Order: sequence, then structure tokens, then C-alpha cells
Amino acid sequence: MLYKTQKYYDYLEYFEQDDCPICIMHKNWLNKFIDNFFYECVNDRKMRKIIRDYGGFCKEHAIAMLNHGDPLGHSIIYADLITDYLKNSDKKKKQGCLICDLEKEANESFLKAFLDFFKESDEFVQKFDETNTCLCKPHLNILKTMTKDNALIEKLDYVQKKNLTHALECLDEIKRKFDYRFKEEALTKEERTAWQRAVKLMAGIDR
Ligand SMILES: [Zn+2]
Ligand SMILES: [Zn+2]
Repeated sequence: MLYKTQKYYDYLEYFEQDDCPICIMHKNWLNKFIDNFFYECVNDRKMRKIIRDYGGFCKEHAIAMLNHGDPLGHSIIYADLITDYLKNSDKKKKQGCLICDLEKEANESFLKAFLDFFKESDEFVQKFDETNTCLCKPHLNILKTMTKDNALIEKLDYVQKKNLTHALECLDEIKRKFDYRFKEEALTKEERTAWQRAVKLMAGIDR
């Protein structure tokens, strides 16, 4: 029996937005994690030791944290990291970063939940279908490797292709309206951002 968790309702809400719902789920998770991190973890000695063991954060997550701001939080963390580096610059550190490891776990749970809801809930599939939601290519490919249920993969492909065809129609309309003969026809709200959405869908960009 399907258990409708918070993720279920989050996904239904994300179907109303423009981007891949799994990308949105990930982006929100990361923002929330970084928020909490600066609020709760910066002054935690054990946490700072864990971060030192990794030698800091990977480039992607360091940028995400930098974009968040917080001069004091960064100063505490990076004073600790630079002091450690000055003392032990030869010491081998753990691969990746703390957020990489936690993110891997979180992503697996987002993907698994999506697949379960898509399999078990007609309401979920119907919403996905009628909101013209598209999954990004990387997330769709991972989902397909996570199940051996061919009927489920076919259903996913069917809805995805239908919705991608709609995305393609929007791009065709942009191309047409850029022609001087039709230049008095304005782009619709959906068409105005369709080209950016197309890039995100193909590359799996979640920001
Ligand atoms: Zn995605
Ligand atoms: Zn990382």
C-alpha cells in the first residue's frame, strides 16, 4: 500500500513548477542543509573535526555555501581549516566532502520515493502528466537503472516523451515568432522561459 509521505506532497507541488521535480527536491534539500549547518553546526567541535578530516568542502559545495553568505560562519570554519592545513599540510584527507556523502544518501531516497509514487499512485502519474512535467535527462536515466519493472519504465517513458514533445513545441514557437513575418506575435509566458528550461532538462542543472 502506498504511504503518502511529505515527499509525495512536495513532488505534487513541484509538478506545478517549471524544472525537473527531482532537481527541485535536491536543490531545496541542499539549501535547507546549508541553512541548518550555519545555524547549528558551525560551533559544534565534533562537526568541525569531521570537516577537517575531509580537508574542507568540495568545489561545488564550497560555492553553494559561499552563495549562502554568512561571514561569521565562514570565518569560524575556514580559520579552523587553514590552521589545520598550516599544521598538517601533508596529512591525507578523506575524499569528497561531508555534504557529498549526505547528499548521495538524500538523492537515493528522493529517487526511490519518486519511483514508488509513480508506480503506486494514479493521482501522482496524472498530475505529472497534466502539468507537462519533465524529468531532466540525468535523473530519468538513473531512475531507469533502479527498477527491473519494464511496464513501469514504459509508463515513465510514455509520459516523459509526451511532455518533452510539449517542451519542443514551445521551442518551435520561439523559433517561429523570431521570424520577422510573425514578429508582432508575442511569446506566451511559458515560451519566454522554455529555452532555459530546455537547457536545464538536458543537462540536469538544478539551480
Ligand atoms: Zn533532475
Ligand atoms: Zn561535496
